[in-house]
Amino acid sequence: MIIRARIVVTMDGALIENGAVAASGNRIVDVGTFDEIKTRNTGQIFDLGDQALLPGLINAHCHLDYTCLRGKISPQKSFTDWIRSINEKKSELSPKDYLASIKVGFEEAKRFGTTAIANLTAFPELISQVQSSIRTWWFAELIDIRAPERANELVDAAIESLERARSPGVPQGLAPHALFTASKDLFRRCGQIAEREHILLTTHLAESKEEMEMFHDASGPLYEFIRSIRRPMNDCENKTPLGFLLGALGDRALPQWIIAHLNELTENDFDLLERLNPKFHIVHCPRSHKYFGHSPFAFERLRTLGFSICLGTDSLASNKSLSLFAEMRAFRKSFPRVSPQEIFQMATVNPARALRCENALGQIRPGFEADLIAIPSSGAKDVFDEIVAFDGSVSWSMVNGQVYRDW
Ligand SMILES: [Zn+2]
Repeated sequence: MIIRARIVVTMDGALIENGAVAASGNRIVDVGTFDEIKTRNTGQIFDLGDQALLPGLINAHCHLDYTCLRGKISPQKSFTDWIRSINEKKSELSPKDYLASIKVGFEEAKRFGTTAIANLTAFPELISQVQSSIRTWWFAELIDIRAPERANELVDAAIESLERARSPGVPQGLAPHALFTASKDLFRRCGQIAEREHILLTTHLAESKEEMEMFHDASGPLYEFIRSIRRPMNDCENKTPLGFLLGALGDRALPQWIIAHLNELTENDFDLLERLNPKFHIVHCPRSHKYFGHSPFAFERLRTLGFSICLGTDSLASNKSLSLFAEMRAFRKSFPRVSPQEIFQMATVNPARALRCENALGQIRPGFEADLIAIPSSGAKDVFDEIVAFDGSVSWSMVNGQVYRDW
């Protein structure tokens, strides 16, 4: 099959005007100008007309479990109040609700041009009942605050559920929820398993001021809330969340993690980050960040230190939609000096690297997976400007070589 478009944005060198992509099965086999591709390949031609053909977007941090909570929790006074609210809402949901929520989430993500997603689920046992319509990395989200002595058991059960639902070629992942809900043992166990097997790791770290307050000052609303659940709090003393995690895992273990948020960092943390080599991957969720009113995200400093930063939507319990285009626009508002091309990389090339798929996803290249999307192109001078400004559903998408066009 040959797909022709006004412009092909490969993210692998120059833009190709009047370009085309040849795909066979689920792979891209050739990329070039329409004339070149027609000469070198045979097959049916799909002319997308005045559109820009782009690599599919990759959402590096999402919780589709909570798609049904859109608009249900208004911004709270504190992060801890939000946790209380979501726990209350969750207590009203059944496995059937979660399955419906995940299904609706996949459809919405796909409609907005997402072709791959790193999705955390608190219910790994449900994964085998879900048909995902986009490429999915399932991360089993683990919390052992009420039974830390069962950390290993919890991880092993999650691994079993993941194994049962594993799709060929896509590694799965583990996600100890956060330092305040998962024990050191749980983090370590996940780290050990990831080293042994083809497993990815992610966690929420240093997201809120209250998390910093808890570990550094042994006070604040999150400290009080977590103490009320009977977590032993004697390890909350003069540590930053980053320092705490490095202490628990050792800095050599950290590069394999995808770290979500990282909003609260001290000068000492920046020194630690500078020394870390190689670096871990970071996910920033611009609209969820705004919803919570977190401290400014230190994008420029982290980038200067050599970190690769991806974009994510987080869940609809703290966001309005699963559109990564909306995340790119929100990011641009906060960081107007960052080029639209670099912002687009944060939703394509960078997350592909974080998911260890930089040789298969995030760019339009021969040999890569046929995950493509198209958006209208006016022929504007800066195509990346137009991409980041795009607001709406994509007009066409292809996931794993399969075409979707009617939403
Ligand atoms: Zn999250």
